Amino acid sequence: MTPDVHELLAELLRRPSVTPHDSGCQDLIAGRLRVLGFAIQRLRFGEVDNLWATHGEGGPLVCLAGHTDVVPTGPRESWTSDPFVPTERDGLLYARGASDMKASDAAMVIALERLAASGHRGTIALLLTSDEEGSGVDGTRRALNFLIEQGLEIDAAIVGEPTSEVQFGDVIKNGRRGSMTGFVEILGIQGHTAYPSLADNAVHKLAPALADLIRLDWGPGDADFPSTTLQVSNVNAGTGANNVVPGQVSLQFNIRFGASQTVERIQSKVVQVFRDHAIEDPIQWSVSALPFVTSGGPLVGALETAIFEETGIKPRKSTAGGTSDARFFAANGIPVAEFGPINATIHAIDENVEIACLEPLSRIYEHALKILTGS
Ligand SMILES: [Zn+2]
Repeated sequence: MTPDVHELLAELLRRPSVTPHDSGCQDLIAGRLRVLGFAIQRLRFGEVDNLWATHGEGGPLVCLAGHTDVVPTGPRESWTSDPFVPTERDGLLYARGASDMKASDAAMVIALERLAASGHRGTIALLLTSDEEGSGVDGTRRALNFLIEQGLEIDAAIVGEPTSEVQFGDVIKNGRRGSMTGFVEILGIQGHTAYPSLADNAVHKLAPALADLIRLDWGPGDADFPSTTLQVSNVNAGTGANNVVPGQVSLQFNIRFGASQTVERIQSKVVQVFRDHAIEDPIQWSVSALPFVTSGGPLVGALETAIFEETGIKPRKSTAGGTSDARFFAANGIPVAEFGPINATIHAIDENVEIACLEPLSRIYEHALKILTGS
């Protein structure tokens, strides 16, 4: 078999598509797919490029999804080789975006090309964005909303995020935890440290509440999700001088939670902790992702079968890790699961991907699409 995926991957990696730029990756892919009869829509919102490509007609419509943007390289001199010159060493291909996630992009494109050439039932589709690593506003979320408003119905989606952990094929993500952040500014009265009776130390007000907050018992996890976690991410107070009682302290904390929790229940639990310490300053919340899990239905089973037949490995299902664009499919009620190469070097210096996994990855996507479209 010709190393199709490897060649396309190298072409994508040479394009320095630091988020939200696409740097011609989607042009390259659109050009290849158009030749094979795919219908192509370019959805540019703001400075974000999105690509929607479909082949075939009728249902089921099964979508592969990914992103062409990459995170910044960090100091170039720290890289062993130029991050935008794909370089092979010891069976690994090094470049920014190698595993997150141009390897999957290339594998998906080749899978779609093979299916278009060999024939299939239903509709196979590809959704790419250049805004996964950035704000995520004008990317998958907006493109999906646009397509759904046009009446499009997607039956299942596979997102190619790198999910494997130790061995290629060992982990599928069939859900993700939710993420929400709380921000509170606690006010006291600034004064001289030598005259504390004339001041009200905001840090002293916060300290006992903070101790209770980080000790909160969220209960056990469940079959799909680990227990909820709360981590303090920022605390800021004080003027820098040693003789000033701080009159305010700001606190930010991030909570990761599973589908058995609700946003409201979490928020009221946190509010109660502050109330117990007579702190009534309002908490501002931002919910960046709701938890989801894909359990019933054919999607996860199709991926498991395809992975097992290609690698001999029975993958473990996981909902761990950060958020991904899969949440936008889930928010629209579309069954979604994620599978891709080993994620050990994503966002790191000397990011790389195993060359030996590239062709199998593409055959796994192809096989899963065949199962899901009944081809
Ligand atoms: Zn990614």
